[in-house]
Amino acid sequence: MTSKKVLIMDKYGPDFGRIAKALRPFGLALMWTESLKEGLDLLAQARPALLLAGQNLEGLADPTDLLGVIQAKRLPTQMVVIGQEPDFDRAMDWVAEGVFAVLRSPVQVGRLRRLAGRILDNLGLFETMIQAEAKGQEPGDLLIYKSLAGHTDVGPLLEAICDTAMGLTGADRVEAFTGPGAPQGSHMSVSRGDLRPSEGHGKTIDFRWMGSHLASVRLIFAQKVAADGLRQSSLDELSFAGALFLGQAFRLEEALMMASRDPLTGLANRRVFLDAINREYCLAKRHASPLSLLTLDLDHFKNVNDTFGHQTGDEVLKWVSGVIMEVVRQGDLPARIGGEEFSVILPRTSLDQAAILAQRLKDALAATPLPGRCPELAKPTVSQGLACIEHFLVNSPQDLIYCSDQAMYLAKREGRDTVRLATDLAGKNFFQDAQYVFQ
Ligand code: GH3
Ligand code: MG
Ligand code: MG
Repeated sequence: MTSKKVLIMDKYGPDFGRIAKALRPFGLALMWTESLKEGLDLLAQARPALLLAGQNLEGLADPTDLLGVIQAKRLPTQMVVIGQEPDFDRAMDWVAEGVFAVLRSPVQVGRLRRLAGRILDNLGLFETMIQAEAKGQEPGDLLIYKSLAGHTDVGPLLEAICDTAMGLTGADRVEAFTGPGAPQGSHMSVSRGDLRPSEGHGKTIDFRWMGSHLASVRLIFAQKVAADGLRQSSLDELSFAGALFLGQAFRLEEALMMASRDPLTGLANRRVFLDAINREYCLAKRHASPLSLLTLDLDHFKNVNDTFGHQTGDEVLKWVSGVIMEVVRQGDLPARIGGEEFSVILPRTSLDQAAILAQRLKDALAATPLPGRCPELAKPTVSQGLACIEHFLVNSPQDLIYCSDQAMYLAKREGRDTVRLATDLAGKNFFQDAQYVFQ
């Protein structure tokens, strides 16, 4: 019997009302507790379809500990974590461990309702798997799901599909490759088996999901009779399960891309930049190695937009990003941190070395033509600011950002199209703002 119950383990607050509202249309029984101990008892007894667990529940070191309980007791329960400020990497780890989804607090009613719908749609499947497992049965179709479940990266998932297809069909060689429905950058192929690709008798299965051709698997047999004897229902199940899991893996990959890249320029975004500067700062301090930060802002960029339109403005931003990427070294991290403002984190780089890079960038911008569609008149210059962690005002990653920003503003004040260092700031009315730095 399907358990249509929901257990909420979280501190009481406004989210409870939102959760209740989101789940009302499903007619589920809601149980709520603030206590970890009571929650664990309820989980085991009520066997809810859905567990909504607060990230900061008292006594709970990590939400995935609850997943361990669900797995150990073979509960038909899908878990959704509600995070106050979930760190993106941690959230991805939770999902990779088997958490169904992570929602940010305050919970969005529509989003939770869609998630719950997906979980309840699949409830029958989850329950059949659990029951079959409890009875020690391993029906072939369920084995396919089990062998693919838990893979969230496309590469290993394609390998698992190959292995499963080989085990299922006895093929002598299997090739799996992503199809036109795979997101950009996800295209790959893997193969298993010794038979040469040109030999044998083949059969191709396509993996489709919601009208998109996600991937194909080619099974190759040395003997024609083996290829002819394939059971269509197993192949259908493989292609269904493969498409289901691939669809999830692609979604995860896209989410990661979107969360870390600026869509216009393809550079790292501000979130990645802030994570990276914190990390590099700690590393540089630990290893006593230099670390510099370059901040640059396009000069009079508003004029480009006003005179030639936003589309030309966007082309110019892409052009600048391209030149930055050409000029920096491997290991440097360029990012778009604002509209027409960019930063480059320069690990193991002293201020002098950074100044050489800034000059190289200035020269490269002057030497690189704009893309054909942009009028050459629109070619802007940049003002650059540099700071390094040896500077006496820099005691934190925030100070480093602040000082390189201030150096960039000094470059603006002193004529634009130029480079200034944090060390140039002394005696230039900089200390009126110094309180911020010492906070
Ligand atoms: P300054 O030399 O002092 O930096 O002058 P500025 O004109 O570059 O500076 P301001 O801050 O006045 O203008 C920045 C402009 O950048 C305004 C905004 O329209 C433009 N901008 C920000 N993001 C984008 C974007 O994604 N695309 C386009 N086309 N323009 C953008
Ligand atoms: Mg500007
Ligand atoms: Mg600006």
